[in-house]
Amino acid sequence: MNIFQKYSAILLLSMNLSVGVVAAECDKTNLAVQVLGSGGPIADDERASSGYLIWHNNKSIALVDMGGGVFQRFGEAQGKIEDLELIGITHFHTDHVADLPALLKSGFFINRKDSLLISGPAGGSRFPGLIEFMDALFNPKSGAFRYLSGYLSGKGGLFKTELLEVDNKSEQPTSVLKEDGLKVSSVGVNHWAIPTVGYLVEINGKKIAFSGDQNGDNPAFLKLIQGADILFMAHAVPEKADRVAGRLHASPSVIGKLANEAKVKRLVLSHFMKRSLDTLDENIKIIEKNYSGIIELAEDLECFNLN
Ligand SMILES: [Zn+2]
Repeated sequence: MNIFQKYSAILLLSMNLSVGVVAAECDKTNLAVQVLGSGGPIADDERASSGYLIWHNNKSIALVDMGGGVFQRFGEAQGKIEDLELIGITHFHTDHVADLPALLKSGFFINRKDSLLISGPAGGSRFPGLIEFMDALFNPKSGAFRYLSGYLSGKGGLFKTELLEVDNKSEQPTSVLKEDGLKVSSVGVNHWAIPTVGYLVEINGKKIAFSGDQNGDNPAFLKLIQGADILFMAHAVPEKADRVAGRLHASPSVIGKLANEAKVKRLVLSHFMKRSLDTLDENIKIIEKNYSGIIELAEDLECFNLN
């Protein structure tokens, strides 16, 4: 029995279908998180980069991250731009945001009228904040995609985006969205010098947490996600990571401790890279030493049902 058969509850995987094309039974009518991208920044793993889609009452209501390949997976998942209430970006590494302009452009053809809320971190070090990032894309004079400047102004038949920057240095979570039984909060996480935030989505009495990329040492995030029903956690490095990778990402032992201290019920490992997949069996054993809850492994298009 291989590692995915052992830890993933998905029957399709045990049938040896290839990674990246399986679509698990998805309880879209109730509440589910569908993984749109379970990979990292390298195009060697048949996985899209980071992206997660939340389904509620048959609607694709929120997206967390839009890394390369997520544009295609969003279509494969049959997500609808007109149903989105939020796109939450964790940080401005390409594997978390590169497909955002492509998805917005796609929205032109479905004629969405309502504005769309996008959240992301404020800027810092060599990275822009959300507002500067969007300006670099869509500024009418200098933006790379200036022909789509209507996404900033709401003109030209394009829907307007509402931009909300999260202060990633604050210990207090930012309230991103609160409406109709849906509450989204965000707080900074430590991804070395890259301004990064994690998210907690509360809906239907369930708490869904997204780690973003992080080294796992921010107590404010630990506090925010206490008792979460499910945590989607980046697993990008093995236990013995080099110094740089170790500053950027949580090791398996740190992941296990974080999940344990946060008392999350289910831990979904995602954002795999070759270096974490190569020793996955060993990594999971290390996590299990620190965390006794349910451990699951993300695949592109896989659904994690919450009812
Ligand atoms: Zn990153």
